[in-house]
Amino acid sequence: MWLIKGLFITAKRFFSRKITERYPEVYPDLPKATRGDFQFTIDKCTACTLCALACPNKVIQIGTAKTAEGKRRIDQYQMSVGYCLYCGLCVEACPTSAIEMKPAFAPAYYKKVKSLLCWTYKEPTV
Ligand code: SF4
Ligand code: SF4
Repeated sequence: MWLIKGLFITAKRFFSRKITERYPEVYPDLPKATRGDFQFTIDKCTACTLCALACPNKVIQIGTAKTAEGKRRIDQYQMSVGYCLYCGLCVEACPTSAIEMKPAFAPAYYKKVKSLLCWTYKEPTV
């Protein structure tokens, strides 16, 4: 009796709609709000360092420089994402939306150095 019941459940599952995905052959369709990777727009950054101060794991390192007018500007923005919690506190703290999160799945790196994201300021060409 139990054997027949077990076979019936197996047969039912076999012919019903599959809810698992064939990753990595099929990439998952991620919701827009997925916190998987970072997007940094250096032109929007004011070098205020609020994101670095908000980060609980000290993932963000900010290098600054002075403009010809003596104003502070961003020079280099680094993230050691290997230590990142993907909590989004840096994104919430940013007043200009320079740092944002974007969907990505399983962002894994074979070498630690690859997990260091770095953006460097380039002088605008006239
Ligand atoms: S997501 Fe969280 S842990 Fe990662 S850099 Fe931003 S504040 Fe830090
Ligand atoms: S990314 Fe945003 S919060 Fe961080 S230094 Fe730049 S402007 Fe400030």
